[in-house]
Amino acid sequence: MDEPCPLCDSLGGELVWQDAHCRVVLVEGVEQQAFPGFCRVVWNQHCTEMSDLLPSASGHLMRVVLAVERVLRRMVTPDKINLASLGNLVPHLHWHVIPRWRDDTHFPAPIWGKVGNGVVPAPTHKPVSCATLSAMLADELKDLDKAIIP
Ligand SMILES: [Zn+2]
Repeated sequence: MDEPCPLCDSLGGELVWQDAHCRVVLVEGVEQQAFPGFCRVVWNQHCTEMSDLLPSASGHLMRVVLAVERVLRRMVTPDKINLASLGNLVPHLHWHVIPRWRDDTHFPAPIWGKVGNGVVPAPTHKPVSCATLSAMLADELKDLDKAIIP
């Protein structure tokens, strides 16, 4: 790796859960205020694409992504979940798990697109407690088979 990588150099948010292969962080700042519960699932080892991983490893990562999605659906009852793996700006493999509401700032556009209706409403959804999310995700992932990856 030639250039410094923000996801190698830092967690990338408030740590919610981790194992030996990947971590779940709560995105911080204005994105968290606009989309409470917005998480990233970050592969620990630097690589760029899902297809760089062995099938067992990409399966492990997707199990964690889907566990985060299930917990957020229960916790913040969004109208929709957006899953995205872009990496155009930070080419270190990570997934965004983004709760969306019909009255959020960008709906129905992607959160990085133009503001949907031009009106930025006051936040109407409660902030997410990292401790609560962490406990719910630990419970959701209690049966994650850690032996899948040698
Ligand atoms: Zn990296």
